[in-house]
Amino acid sequence: MEIKAGLGYDLHRLVPGRPLIIGGVFIPAEGGSLAHSDGDVLVHSLIDALLGASGEGDIGQRFPDTDPAYKGISSLELLRRVMAGIRAAGLIVINTDSVLILEKPRLVPYLTAMKANLAPILGIEPDHIGLKAKTAEGLGDIGSGQAVACWTVALLGREQ
Ligand code: MG
Repeated sequence: MEIKAGLGYDLHRLVPGRPLIIGGVFIPAEGGSLAHSDGDVLVHSLIDALLGASGEGDIGQRFPDTDPAYKGISSLELLRRVMAGIRAAGLIVINTDSVLILEKPRLVPYLTAMKANLAPILGIEPDHIGLKAKTAEGLGDIGSGQAVACWTVALLGREQ
C-alpha cells in the first residue's frame, strides 16, 4: 500500500459573541472563533492535513474566505467535500491524530462527541481518530485565552 502523511495547523482568534465550535461540537465558553466559516479549528487543521497528504494544496485555496458561499458554513460540510475528493483520488484515511491547544474550558468532556462527528465523514472508526486536549500553561496568546490552535497529522493510503 502507498502511504501518504499530511500535517495541518490552524489558529483562530477568540472573541466574545461568537460560538465556540470544535470538531462540530458546540462548547459553552466566554467566546468563540473569529472566522468567515464557523471557525472550527480542529476541522480546519484536519482538512489541511488531508489536503497536504493528497497533494491538493490547502484550505484557503480550496475554500477562499472571500467567497460568500462559505460564510458561516459548517466546517463539517467542508470536510465532507474534501473527503469526496480524497475518495475520488482512490485514497482512504488510515488514521488521524490531533493536538488541540485551548486554555479554557477544558475540552476532555467533549472529545468523544467530536470523534463521533468526524468518524463517519472520514470513514474510519472513532478509535482511529486521536484527539488530545492541552493548555498553553498560561503562556502567550493562547495561554491568555485570546486564541485556540490545533495541529493534526493524517495518514492516507492507496491500494496498489
Ligand atoms: Mg481556520
